[in-house]
Amino acid sequence: MSTSSSRSTPVFDGHNDLLLNLWLSQAENPVGLFLDDKLDGHLDMARIRQGNMVGGLFAVFVLPQDYLAKFAPHKTALAHDPLAVTQAQIALLQHIETQSAGRAKICRTVAEIESCISSGVLAMVLHIEGAEALDPELRLLDSWYEAGLRSIGPMWNLPNQFGFGVKGDFPGSPDTGEGFTPAGISLLHACNRKRLLIDLSHMNEKSFWQTAQYSDAPLVATHSNAHALCPHPRNLTDKQLAAIAESDGFVGVNFGTTFLRADGKRDNNTPLSDIVRHLDYLLEKLGENRVGFGSDFDGTNVPDPLADVAGLPRLIQELSDAGYDSALIEKLAWRNWLRVLRQTWGH
Ligand code: ZN
Repeated sequence: MSTSSSRSTPVFDGHNDLLLNLWLSQAENPVGLFLDDKLDGHLDMARIRQGNMVGGLFAVFVLPQDYLAKFAPHKTALAHDPLAVTQAQIALLQHIETQSAGRAKICRTVAEIESCISSGVLAMVLHIEGAEALDPELRLLDSWYEAGLRSIGPMWNLPNQFGFGVKGDFPGSPDTGEGFTPAGISLLHACNRKRLLIDLSHMNEKSFWQTAQYSDAPLVATHSNAHALCPHPRNLTDKQLAAIAESDGFVGVNFGTTFLRADGKRDNNTPLSDIVRHLDYLLEKLGENRVGFGSDFDGTNVPDPLADVAGLPRLIQELSDAGYDSALIEKLAWRNWLRVLRQTWGH
């Protein structure tokens, strides 16, 4: 284990569900709890500093109605209003920025991310997972872009006005049905025009290949793993990985045990070597410039040896023990993410 006296390698992470965790909280000021290091879950400011997480993509996520009824009965009044949920979660990210007294910032360019990293400010990129709230004419996209939106997964696992997400049981293929609607294809073109990152992580085969066909940007899966090692429908087949490599794209490894383990079990008793196994495989298929992290913190369960964001130095140590040199570790931990964001956004 690394000591607390020397800071571990910085980590820029491709996916977390902090905003969902804050939105579900029944506390009066959950953002205050996050900033004062008292929030339950995988992420708060103190643990972010301990883990040396310097930034990442922060997802807005509209929970489906049956999930709300099950996990958040106090929120069911909002079940039919995805726009209200989306705006509320965007507002939470803005509150983090304004209440943080300069400790966290919504970043719109890679230059801004770099400046945050060098000055110890948490670099937050706004991502939307499931564009349920977006009107088919895409009028809201401009205002969300203004608010800082730089990455979008058009569908989560369930169908919406833009298409069909990947919905299926373990083990299973990502080939789970229909792809994009015509409105979804228009959204892909709009994302290209605005140079928004299009996230492949919750796409089924059909929508994945439509994105490969229509999008001119690098193909990016922010939080997915290798299907050959863990046959979850959310993971990427070798053919999909080849297309991602071909486009000079990127895959962020998901720390969720369901996406890591060969048996697909939701079991925290999972070694960090399972993360290394996926990294090894993805490095072989994609090359060393196209792989990084997409933790899924606050969105799923992670291995006990990691526990939460404060455990990132233990993962870095595991990589070092597995023989990864420091240049490669830096690429995986943050440099590759900045590379693909710069290529996608253009600045
Ligand atoms: Zn996800």
